[in-house]
Amino acid sequence: YLVTDLNYGFLKQLGLTTENPGLYDGRWGGSGKVIESISPSTGKVIAKVRTSIPQEVRNAITEAHKAWPQWASLPAPTRGEIVRQIGDELRNNLKPLSQLVSLEMGKILPEGIGEVQEFIDICDYAVGLSRMLPGSMFPSERKNHALMEKWNPLGVVGVISAFNFPIAVYGWNSAIAMVCGNTIVWKGALTTPLVSIATTKIITGVLERNGIPGSVVSLVTGGPEVGETIVEDTRVPLISFTGSTNVGKEVALKVQERFGKFLLELGGNNALIVAQDAELEMAVRAAVFSCVGTAGQRCTTTRRLILHSKIKNEFLGKLKKAYESILERIGDPLENNTLYGPLHNQHAVDEYKVITYRNKILCGGKIEFGGKQIERPGFYVEPTIISGLPADAKIVQTETFAPIVYIFETNSLEDAVALNNGVQQGLSSSLFTKSIENVFRWIGPHGSDCGIVNVNIGTSGAEIGAAFGGEKATGGGRESGSDAWKHYMRRATITINYGNDLPLAQGIKFE
Ligand code: NAD
Repeated sequence: YLVTDLNYGFLKQLGLTTENPGLYDGRWGGSGKVIESISPSTGKVIAKVRTSIPQEVRNAITEAHKAWPQWASLPAPTRGEIVRQIGDELRNNLKPLSQLVSLEMGKILPEGIGEVQEFIDICDYAVGLSRMLPGSMFPSERKNHALMEKWNPLGVVGVISAFNFPIAVYGWNSAIAMVCGNTIVWKGALTTPLVSIATTKIITGVLERNGIPGSVVSLVTGGPEVGETIVEDTRVPLISFTGSTNVGKEVALKVQERFGKFLLELGGNNALIVAQDAELEMAVRAAVFSCVGTAGQRCTTTRRLILHSKIKNEFLGKLKKAYESILERIGDPLENNTLYGPLHNQHAVDEYKVITYRNKILCGGKIEFGGKQIERPGFYVEPTIISGLPADAKIVQTETFAPIVYIFETNSLEDAVALNNGVQQGLSSSLFTKSIENVFRWIGPHGSDCGIVNVNIGTSGAEIGAAFGGEKATGGGRESGSDAWKHYMRRATITINYGNDLPLAQGIKFE
C-alpha cells in the first residue's frame, strides 16, 4: 500500500508520506486511530493518516482561539494580502493538488483542476473584499446623533465539509472567513484526509512566512465524534457545515441549543425541466454533464428530468445515445481521455445497487439505461436512467448520491414547476426554454423555489461570484460570493451622541 509503490510523485511534491499526522494546531500530530486513504479508481490504499481524539480537537480550538486576537487585529487589507499569497501558492501547486483530488476523491482530473481553481478564484475575490468590507451610516432621528452599522469578526469558525468537494468548499469558507478576521478549525471528510492535509500544509506555509501562527487554520481529522466535538464547543460561534441533510439537521439542532450560528449547505434533489420549445441539442448536452458529471456525486447533480410530453421520446433517445458515448470514456480519473470515473467508495456502490434494485423490483420503475455495477477494479457503476416512477415515491424524494436520474413527463410549465418544487430539498433547478414568458414565470414568485434557478444551462457548475446554497431541507445557507461574507461576521448597530443633550428615541419624554 506504500505511496512509493504506487509511484504517485505528486504526493511527495505535496509533502505527503505513507503515514501522515492528521492534526494541525500549530504543530502536526494526532494520537487517534489510524485510517486508510483509499483510491476509488483502484480500491487500493494510498496512505495512512492518524486521526485526532476529542481532547486534541479541543486543544486545536484553544490554539485557533489564541491565534485570533493577532489575526483579527491586522487591518483587513493586510489579511487580504496574505490570502492573495495563499492564492498564489495554490497556483504554484495547482497540478499536484488537482491530481491528489482526483486520486483520493475519484473525480476526473479536469474537475479536480476546477476545484482547486475555484479556491484560487475565491482567494482573488476575498482579496478584493478585504478592501471593500462595508459598514453603513443611517440618518438618526435624534439631533447630533450618528446611527451606524459595523461588522466585526466572529472568532473561531468551525468548518465541517463533505467528501465530494474536498477542497473547494473549504476554499469558499476559509478565504472569506479569513479576510473577515476569523480563525478556523477544519474537519474534512474522513475519506479525503490527504487533500485536507496537503491544503493545510500549503496555507500554513504562507502564514508562517508572514509571522502569523499556523493555528489560524487548524485542522482536525476524523469522523462523527470529531465533528461533534467542534459542534458542541461554545468557543466556536459559527459552524459552517456541508454534508447530508440528516447530519446537517443534527448539527443545526446542537448549535441552536447553545445559541451558536450555523451555515448549512445540505443535500439537493435537483430537477432539470425541458419545455416544448427548448433547444434540444443544448438541453441534452447540459443534462449529460449535470446527470453523470462527477459520477452523479455533486450536490447539484440533476436527479430528476422533467420533460414535456411532446419532446420526451426524442429527448430520451438523444440522451441514451449520449450515455452510450460516455460508456466508452469510463476510466482512471487521472487519465486524459476519461470523462466518467468511479463512485467514492464501496458503501456508495452498495447503496447504488440497493436503490436500482428497489426501483426496478419494488417500485415498478423501468431502467432505461444502465443499472449495474461495472466489472473492473475500484468502485464503478453504470450511469443510470429510470422512468415510470411516481413523483412522490420515497426513492425519488430522497437524494441518492449516485448517477441515477428519474424521468417525468408533463404537459405544462405549471405542472413542471410543481414537480420541481414537490420535494423537500431546494438546491438547484434548471429550465430549458426559448420563451421569455416561461423564463420570467420560472424566476418569479410562482416559479422555482430553489436557491439556484438556472435558464438554458444545467443544474451543476455554479460560479463563485454569486451566493451558493439552497432552501428548505438544503439548509438555507449561502456561501462564496455576493453578501455571503455576512455569515462570518457579527453586526453591531452603533448609536453615537456627539451633542450635549440626551434626546430619547421616538420622542419619548422621561423627566
Ligand atoms: P455526510 O453528511 O456524511 O458528512 C459530511 C461531514 O460531516 C463529514 O466531514 C463527516 O465526517 C461529518 N459528520 C458526520 N457525522 C457528523 C456528526 N454527527 N457531527 C458532526 N459532523 C459529522 O456527507 P457526505 O457523504 O460527506 O457528503 C455528501 C452530502 O453532502 C450530500 O448530501 C451532498 O448533497 C451534500 N453536499 C452539499 C453541498 C452543498 O453545497 N449544498 C456541497 C457538497 C455536498
